[in-house]
Amino acid sequence: MFPLLKYSEEEVAHHLESVTAKDVLASLSAARHGWFDLLNLISAAARPHLAEMRRVAQTARRRYYGKTVSVYAPLYIGNTCVNSCRYCDFRRQHTGTARRNLSLDEIRAEAESVRSSGIDSLLIVAGEDPKVNSVKHLAEVGRLLKPLFSYLALEVAPQTEDAYRELFAAGYEGLTCFQETYDRTLYREMHPSGPKADYDWRLGTQLRAGRAGFRVLGCAFLLGLGPWRREAASLAAHALHLMRECYEAKIQFAFPRICRVDGGFVPPCEVDDADLEQMMLAFRIVFPQCCMTVSTRESPDFRDRIVLTAADNMSAGSRVTPGGYASARKTETAQFTLADARSPAEVFAAIRANGQEAVFKTWDNRI
Ligand code: SF4
Repeated sequence: MFPLLKYSEEEVAHHLESVTAKDVLASLSAARHGWFDLLNLISAAARPHLAEMRRVAQTARRRYYGKTVSVYAPLYIGNTCVNSCRYCDFRRQHTGTARRNLSLDEIRAEAESVRSSGIDSLLIVAGEDPKVNSVKHLAEVGRLLKPLFSYLALEVAPQTEDAYRELFAAGYEGLTCFQETYDRTLYREMHPSGPKADYDWRLGTQLRAGRAGFRVLGCAFLLGLGPWRREAASLAAHALHLMRECYEAKIQFAFPRICRVDGGFVPPCEVDDADLEQMMLAFRIVFPQCCMTVSTRESPDFRDRIVLTAADNMSAGSRVTPGGYASARKTETAQFTLADARSPAEVFAAIRANGQEAVFKTWDNRI
């Protein structure tokens, strides 16, 4: 569980099992929500109330985000990694992955390719390789790309608070770091070696970035590793902690799901579409002001539906290999299997067809 939570795993499990339909309806009709409402809404007792949850979540989403869907793209700048996460084909021991780190010229070409599609928010992604993706290099990438995009975010190895200050000054404003699992024992099992084996260092990432000035703090666990209800309870507690400590920043939730592939990692606790939808609706209801993103790990159908009720942000036309946008070399191993291979233009058209508006810019600090 999230270490600062004052309830034990057994107490959380007991609460989840004892939720009644009356508790669910009370949480649905409450004007303000707390952590126990989240537990009520993710419980098994809430599953028969999905239709009502959709209605309440949609109202909450409309109040804060109207009919807009903001769009971003990830840009993988390198896939060498010193970690050994059991579920990821970028892990150090995996010899089947072609490794590549892009030069600054290649990064610029990739970014220009993304920008030409209309997308104005970019997430820089890299494996953990401090010799290649040093703070100095990441700052150089930030300075290179800042003139092209209104918003730059990072999903790279956790850094010190001083390093985050340098990266913030270079143009990055958002940070995403998946805790993967809040269960220490499972975390140790899944991350046997490398810097990522340090659970507490990873857990403090958003706090260090928030203190350094980052404006958007992305949190998630990896769906499929541990029992999702327990992990979701921890994620909510983590978010509440960050909201108190970094009150000027915005929390962004993501719900990355391990998609089973032939010969790939078998998730011990699979999460199905109904589980995922229930969780996203519950978070939208309890945290109406927070951002919520849905990636191309999910199917077009699921993504198009969930941006009507819960998520306010989605990726489009994603490539999850370094050089995937501009280069002819598109055969390298991807970090995960894309379930939505639509082009950005097709995603924008689907957003419009559902009566929503694709938004490319929600912030600009260059003014
Ligand atoms: S999940 Fe990230 S840190 Fe782990 S092996 Fe993959 S790229 Fe490296």
